[in-house]
Amino acid sequence: MTKRVYSFKEGNAEMKGLLGGKGANLAEMTRLGLPVPNGFTISTEACMDYLNNGQKFTEDLKEEIESYLGQLEKESGKAFNDKENMMLVSVRSGSKFSMPGMMDTVLNLGLNDENVEHLAAVTNDEAFAYDCYRRLLQMFGDVVYGIDTSHFENFLEFYKRKNRVQLDSDLTAVQLKEIVHEYKRIYLEIKKQEFPQEPREQLFAAVTAVFNSWNNERAKVYRKLHNIADDLGTAVNIQLMVFGNSGENSGTGVAFTRNPATGENKLFGEYLINAQGEDVVAGIRTPNPISELQDSMPEIYQEFLAMGERLEKHYGDMQDIEFTIENKKLYLLQTRNGKRTAHAAFKIAVDLVDEGLKTKEGAILSLDPQSVNQLLHPIFVEEALKNAELISKVGLPASPGSATGRICFDANTAKEWTDRGEKVVLVRQETSPEDIGGMVVSEAIVTSRGGMTSHAAVVARGMGTCCVAGCSELEIDEFLKTIKYPNGELTEGDVISVDGSNGDLYVGEVELTLSEKNEYFETIMAWSKELSRLDVRMNAETTSDIKTGIAFDASGIGLARTEHMFFAPERLIEMRRFIISEKAEERRAALDTILNYQIDDFKGIFKANNGHSTVIRLLDPPLHEFVPNKTQDIERVAKEMNISYNFLQHRINELHEINPMLGHRGCRLAITYPELYLMQAEAIIRSTIELKKEQGLDVAPEIMIPLVGMEGELSLLKEKVEAHIQTVMKSEETSVSYTLGTMIELPRACLIADELAKDADFFSFGTNDLTQMTFGFSRDDAAKYINQYVADGILPIDPFQTIDMDGVGELIRMAVEKTRQIKPTMKIGVCGELGGDPTSIEFFDQLGLDYVSCSPYRVPVAHLAAAQSAIKLKK
Ligand code: PEP
Ligand code: MG
Repeated sequence: MTKRVYSFKEGNAEMKGLLGGKGANLAEMTRLGLPVPNGFTISTEACMDYLNNGQKFTEDLKEEIESYLGQLEKESGKAFNDKENMMLVSVRSGSKFSMPGMMDTVLNLGLNDENVEHLAAVTNDEAFAYDCYRRLLQMFGDVVYGIDTSHFENFLEFYKRKNRVQLDSDLTAVQLKEIVHEYKRIYLEIKKQEFPQEPREQLFAAVTAVFNSWNNERAKVYRKLHNIADDLGTAVNIQLMVFGNSGENSGTGVAFTRNPATGENKLFGEYLINAQGEDVVAGIRTPNPISELQDSMPEIYQEFLAMGERLEKHYGDMQDIEFTIENKKLYLLQTRNGKRTAHAAFKIAVDLVDEGLKTKEGAILSLDPQSVNQLLHPIFVEEALKNAELISKVGLPASPGSATGRICFDANTAKEWTDRGEKVVLVRQETSPEDIGGMVVSEAIVTSRGGMTSHAAVVARGMGTCCVAGCSELEIDEFLKTIKYPNGELTEGDVISVDGSNGDLYVGEVELTLSEKNEYFETIMAWSKELSRLDVRMNAETTSDIKTGIAFDASGIGLARTEHMFFAPERLIEMRRFIISEKAEERRAALDTILNYQIDDFKGIFKANNGHSTVIRLLDPPLHEFVPNKTQDIERVAKEMNISYNFLQHRINELHEINPMLGHRGCRLAITYPELYLMQAEAIIRSTIELKKEQGLDVAPEIMIPLVGMEGELSLLKEKVEAHIQTVMKSEETSVSYTLGTMIELPRACLIADELAKDADFFSFGTNDLTQMTFGFSRDDAAKYINQYVADGILPIDPFQTIDMDGVGELIRMAVEKTRQIKPTMKIGVCGELGGDPTSIEFFDQLGLDYVSCSPYRVPVAHLAAAQSAIKLKK
């Protein structure tokens, strides 16, 4: 029989897949001799067995759990329902990857109407015993019976208001008994069922609920968002309770060994006295900063500090630790690598290397390449801030970045509004896992309650969304959809601006600009370049994009799309003349004018790129993109071109294509209009010659022909282009070096890559078209149904975002192998969007490509991903 249950003494940190992150780390801390309440973990495999077998709890599993319960009772000297030594346990889920707020927890399990009195007697604290019971009723009701927590919370709020009680911890035993009574009535009213009194029945029901919670909606959303596989399952941890709610010498808290927002090497966290479990993260009471523990319980603080340091050393990373103090004794309930902002992540990674706790490779691997985007988050323009009206200055800077958007008070509205293209800021008293769908689409999240470890703060940091939490100055009414603040009132739809780096909020839209890079980012980038094998180029053709790419250390341009250069009004008219005119001399004149523009264009590109490698792609889009399509525009253009409306309309009709993406574009244009490519090739060569003459700048342009699918296309165009280049060089009495290559973006091109290689100096995979053509998905329309494919599990992920290794990837692999047989060292790159996607980059690195090319802002993402891939490949 496969083992499905492990005591904390049997596991270790390596067993995250089987025991979940929480279970594996509880076992590891137990092994290290840290004060962890005893317990055991039911494996993720048990969860998947249960889910895959019609949600049936097998007798074998039940027996195994029973036997571990027996062992727990024996070792603790406690037992369920034992009057003197009553055992209560927590039941908590924990999957391989941490999913904050996604899965569920039940505390104080084992209590019932009768034994709560025993607990009261033994502890001599009736209020404590009933506080535990009301918490159990609420958590069990929520997790096991699906009774919305608002039923319990609304009553509690109402009851406290009615009895003028401010804090939960001020409730008396008599009051708590009344609350328990009402909670049990809620069970009957909503669930038509009594709360089960038998501890074992409670336990099995809770374990089953945790198993089932793997498939609840919010868990699914979270997994999708973070690319976590659906078949991992969750483990369930059963652990002896320790009580942070047993008086003024007790408490509970969460602390990070370093600041998760800034990375500062200083204990950072929050705690609450006389509180239990989720109180700190739920944001119901505003917790005290951990530094205050130093004054109130100095020994405990020192002890905790030392344990934190030890754990950080042991794991070689910043830890996020949950602790409980029960009557001045410290217990650790969880440790994990702490989630952090991108700013903190980069600083911590570099600091850990400096402190000798990590290698450079380890530091690089610890970073999420996509988090680079967060570092490059926009910030408010200083000048604009001076005139902005401040709403509040007392919010917590929970997740950095700045954003503006319209206020929404609930997740559904946020989703609706963003679907119609609005930018929104989600404003809530506090967030809960139900809000995840709205949080994902929001530009920023603002809450009036909760601290730096509240749900809103943790989730926002994880997503890289800007967040200001705990804005206690704001009176948020989610029902009336208003925010009252000291100087005014805002309503749904009003625009606000949020600064997640300092917690400030402003009325209206404040102008944004890009943030400065920081020294830690620079260090990581330098290490990445040092450790990676793949080159990273940029897709850019404007001077400002090229500058951005260079600032991010792109090693050159992998794709300059020339079509963008034809759309300025003075060029468009010439292009139209070329396309529409039937007179040869008019067409030639139009091309001559464009040639001069293009010479300037290419000089601009080569200059901005400081003479680094530059791939210029010859014209790619179908010609109809250059002609007008609305009646008014056709009339105007006909007038401008001095031709009749009817003639223009006739030519436009001729250019019309049913499937332009599969139509007369790419090299097919040059088969019918070779003069287009000859003009472009000439412009490239002339600009190179001029730059050499004028500035002594040496450029060896890489001229790229798109959409080749047949050997004859390439050989014919190569012959014509090269002959023309020779003529140009001869007329200028000089020669320049250049190379001529092709894009591989049709499946047929992959199949005949060896043939094409004979005529090419380089290849660049155009994965946008290659994906389109391989799947037969239209690039322009597929987004509409791809989401459904992903939701239904037909596709694991959108293949336009991450390489489809089985199909498109196989074609690329085949093309590379065939090419290398003919030309082992020929330069091969990728210039489609996948060139900036970390998973795809790893795949391209494995195939031994020379470079990836992506949009300038993805260049640093690609550098980091390339380094990670190289490190993994070396292992
Ligand atoms: C491609 O197809 O991947 C590519 C880079 O070209 P474009 O996106 O311009 O078609
Ligand atoms: Mg293409």
